[in-house]
Amino acid sequence: MFKKKGLVLSLTVASSILLATGCSSSTGGSGGSGKDSGNPAVGATIYKFDDNFMSYVRRAMEDAAKGNVKLMLNDSQNDQSKQIEQVDTLIAKGAKSLAINLVDPKAAQTIIDKAKPKNIPVIFFNKEPDEKVLKGYDKAYYVGTTSSESGVLQGEMIAKAWEANKDKWDKNHDGKLQYVLLKGEPGHPDAEARTKYAVDTIKQKGIQVDELAMDTAMWDATKATEKMDAWLAKYSDKIEFVIANNDGMALGAIASLEKAGYFSGDKFMPVVGVDAIPEALEMIEKGKMVGSILNDAKNQGKATVQLAANAAKGKDVLAGTEWKLDDKKAVRVPYVQVDKTNIQVGKDAYK
Ligand code: BGC
Ligand code: CA
Repeated sequence: MFKKKGLVLSLTVASSILLATGCSSSTGGSGGSGKDSGNPAVGATIYKFDDNFMSYVRRAMEDAAKGNVKLMLNDSQNDQSKQIEQVDTLIAKGAKSLAINLVDPKAAQTIIDKAKPKNIPVIFFNKEPDEKVLKGYDKAYYVGTTSSESGVLQGEMIAKAWEANKDKWDKNHDGKLQYVLLKGEPGHPDAEARTKYAVDTIKQKGIQVDELAMDTAMWDATKATEKMDAWLAKYSDKIEFVIANNDGMALGAIASLEKAGYFSGDKFMPVVGVDAIPEALEMIEKGKMVGSILNDAKNQGKATVQLAANAAKGKDVLAGTEWKLDDKKAVRVPYVQVDKTNIQVGKDAYK
């Protein structure tokens, strides 16, 4: 596994190149037209293109594919059966390996059942399949993160900020932190782990909490605005903290809070997210977000294509890369806390 220092350094080097262009094509990579001077084909799916974070992963994949593999990239439009059809088509088109961002994490076995008889390696990314399923196929791997780590880091960030500001933020002066929590997609390993570990960590730091409300907004900003509107109507200034499983939802909550007059005068609400996408970094700089946890889209996208390219060429998946596999055959890119004091870390990662 990567050490954090090393990662930050390599990020600055690796991210000096601009994000890829041509994001609207469904087949990215070099050429894309079929005439690819011998580069092997990698078949890839993203669970839906219309996901803020995944759009950054996708650009990193397209960058990493250039001159290396012919990347056939599909938008699964949040439809698992559509994704399975796409996998059939990719295999028929001659994909030498697959890079799969599942719609439903439980569908990994179905994908393996298609790839294994043809000896096609599968690199799952972003949505971690069950350990048993990965173990069942020697050519299956995972590229992502340690989901729980983001929750722990977010919980630590919340606890630290609360301790420093509780004179102001503990509005009802009961010594407890009253929060609302915007959850990602239920059943998504990141959503489940972030929800659990963020709250557990705050408590472990000795802070008492009250959960006023918790519900999924499916990683989505618009849905988060609607939820937050409803919670503000119900609890108004009883809410002392907004915890979001990702930045998309944090931004949605901020839009709702702004409508309700927050972030002007002395009306304030602490909000935290995960991903550290550029839109969230802007909010952190403006003081509308306490911080976020960098989910390193660029390195996850890059590692996914590197492993898939090696697999397509019949090489060891790690050949020529700096990644390591853990005992679950997973490459895990570390999370990093980002707030006003180290905002550059986030900016460098998404450059
Ligand atoms: C990200 C979310 C994203 C989800 C998609 C998570 O790791 O934090 O922003 O919506 O992956 O699967
Ligand atoms: Ca309180």
